[in-house]
Amino acid sequence: MNYLKQVVKQLLTVLKGTLLFRYNIRKHDHLWVIMYHRVLPKNSPAYAREEPGMVVCPEALEQHLELFKKHFEIVDIDSLSDLQPNSNTGKPRLIVTFDDGWADNFQYAFPLLKKHNVPACIYLVTDMIGTNRAFWPNIISKCVHNGWTNQLVGAFDIRPQTNTKIPTREHAAHLIQQIKTLPDTEIWSILSANGWDTAADDDDRLLNWDEVDAMHSSKLITFGSHTCNHFRLTSGLPENVVVHELTESASILEKRFGAPCLHFCYPNGDSSHIAEKGVENIYRTAVTTEKGINSPASNNLRLKRIGVFDDATKTPLHLRARLNG
Ligand SMILES: [Zn+2]
Repeated sequence: MNYLKQVVKQLLTVLKGTLLFRYNIRKHDHLWVIMYHRVLPKNSPAYAREEPGMVVCPEALEQHLELFKKHFEIVDIDSLSDLQPNSNTGKPRLIVTFDDGWADNFQYAFPLLKKHNVPACIYLVTDMIGTNRAFWPNIISKCVHNGWTNQLVGAFDIRPQTNTKIPTREHAAHLIQQIKTLPDTEIWSILSANGWDTAADDDDRLLNWDEVDAMHSSKLITFGSHTCNHFRLTSGLPENVVVHELTESASILEKRFGAPCLHFCYPNGDSSHIAEKGVENIYRTAVTTEKGINSPASNNLRLKRIGVFDDATKTPLHLRARLNG
């Protein structure tokens, strides 16, 4: 039965990666927005700890860029600020985005983007730039790899994976998904109460301003806001905090670059009515984590994306299957 399941799964991948992909890229007026997070070599310690859905290795990224160039017109996100233009190359448009502003984007992605002359948008968490502050999922991963799963399970009242003796990034991701159901403030207070709210390791650090400036002056990279503190903008977050996260992050980037910050990315894809109103007042485009391809009728303030990472794109066939939305 398992064997049959595998065969059906492989057959579906082949069909999606060939016929459906060929059908979809004929939609010349559609827009693909690709979501990356981290770019790390497979043999790095940070790769071994990171959630599988967060990371792509440089070799895979380069293969992706080559495939994008072949089948799409890769455009700068600023081209969406006006009314949606029609593609004039006969190919659908595609935008490359990176969330969070990881230092590895400068080290590993930027050289490849330059080599292939591919524009991209990086969404920055403004209060974390150049600091050693950590995202809470990375703290959880670190705890799992330190062998503290039992303590985590007790503190957060969650369930470990069965049959898990060896700490793996898949197991950490399983715990992170459960912890995500709690509000950010509660997560941080549990981390703090247990003394786990430590600084980021050097190989988990975010961009500093020098790296941001270097990428900005290349004119290849556009920077958008990903809030000041990466709070998820859910309805439980006080309105004054939501407004501050939206306005202050845009203001910091505007002061730095001498031009308005037009692009926003919802942390974890979460939003509320208040957050959407605030985004509408400040930004021209906003991306979500909703999976899909955008049509001419799509709202530029609720753009769907396709998350791309190593485990989902093992071969060009898998990548093409993934790009069907
Ligand atoms: Zn994020």
